Amino acid sequence: MIDKEKEKCLECGSKNVVRKGKSKTKFSVKQIYKCEDCGKRFVSDLRNKSYPIKIIMNSIVTYNLGNNLAETSKIIKKRFKVEVPEKTVYSWVKEFDKICSYYRTRDKAVKLFKPKDTVFIKIFRHLQLYKYRYHKAKVEFFVRNKERYLATLNTSNLPTSVSQHDCPTPIR
Ligand SMILES: [Zn+2]
Repeated sequence: MIDKEKEKCLECGSKNVVRKGKSKTKFSVKQIYKCEDCGKRFVSDLRNKSYPIKIIMNSIVTYNLGNNLAETSKIIKKRFKVEVPEKTVYSWVKEFDKICSYYRTRDKAVKLFKPKDTVFIKIFRHLQLYKYRYHKAKVEFFVRNKERYLATLNTSNLPTSVSQHDCPTPIR
């Protein structure tokens, strides 16, 4: 979040600064300021959140797989050819914490599995190929805390009974 009143010159610390246009890169818009006291220009890099949602989600998922911030940044760069600073990844992880509750169990998961081993993938052959995968740490936690986990589920939205007529006919 940008606080206009606290924008200070990076060179002399003066608050006597004026806006001098914007610097646009592919994924960010930065405000350029000029200090009226020392004449130096500086850029506010606080507002750089306009990355595509795909990159944001990929960063969070990559981090939650157990990669640290530096590794996540590196993987995203390799995957999308986009530079995402570690502090940006961290801000996304914190910001999406409320939605992606997995963040809270990540620390424990990291001790159990290495990032590359966290998701189990197997291809099954049965008339056609099936790709099956699951998150090993999540299953591990589920098994350990099954009772507690089930108790936290909100079952009030589920239908009270499901009759056979309600089952959709398989589509072939
Ligand atoms: Zn200055």
